[in-house]
Amino acid sequence: MKATCWYGKNDVRVLEVPDPRIVNKHDAIVRITLTAICGSDLHLYNGFVPGMEAGDILGHEFMGEVVEVGSAVNNLKTGDRVVVPFPIACSRCFMCNEKMYSLCENTNPNARMAEALWGHSPAGIFGYSHLVGGFAGGQAQYVRVPFADVGPIKIPDDLPDEKVLFLSDIYPTGYMAAEACNIKPGDTIAVWGCGPVGQFAMKSAQLLGAERIIGIDRFPYRLEMARRECDAQTINYEDVDTHEALMEMTGGRGPDACIDAVGMESHDA
Ligand SMILES: [Zn+2]
Ligand SMILES: [Zn+2]
Repeated sequence: MKATCWYGKNDVRVLEVPDPRIVNKHDAIVRITLTAICGSDLHLYNGFVPGMEAGDILGHEFMGEVVEVGSAVNNLKTGDRVVVPFPIACSRCFMCNEKMYSLCENTNPNARMAEALWGHSPAGIFGYSHLVGGFAGGQAQYVRVPFADVGPIKIPDDLPDEKVLFLSDIYPTGYMAAEACNIKPGDTIAVWGCGPVGQFAMKSAQLLGAERIIGIDRFPYRLEMARRECDAQTINYEDVDTHEALMEMTGGRGPDACIDAVGMESHDA
């Protein structure tokens, strides 16, 4: 199959590599139909994440069709369409029982490496360095999905790939930020960063009852999209003092909550 392989800082190649195989009875093999490049992939591309090895297959935002399942997979069958969330979870450990799947204690075989760097280890993650398990990613024609009964979300036939792909990462990322704001009806929410995660946070904030969204960025095309797609008012922080502008727009009260969606998607990262 063809796959997007990392070979070093600023060196990513599309190469022919061996097809993935079922190696555990809980695995499934998914034929990729759509995948995305994340802002976090730029951290790999720019060489900021340790634990990458030459030839690693990138990609943690993907979806596709199940083409093979291991003998212990009960929830999926060949032909199912699925979106696969980027953390790999076992469903049986303490963290999974608490529904904190991204902190699964069983799926990162290199947890000690991650603990040395971050203090705690997250779950194993597709295509995101050996610090989080060295799992082959989904910017490829096929991917092996471990614990296939747990993560993958089955997609009804009438929903096109483009409408559901972002459930793999950036929509839940934006939603979680909005959820953390404890939004009450009528609230004003300011969102730093009007890239994809920022705009999903804006949409989520509206869904949760926010009345007014203020989007902050410096790229005019993003600000324009935030106004058009998310009904946001916008601030270009290169043109005005952001704090003053926020105070003026909210009658001196300030927004009810703020979301920082910059770190994930800064062009300068
Ligand atoms: Zn991502
Ligand atoms: Zn677990």
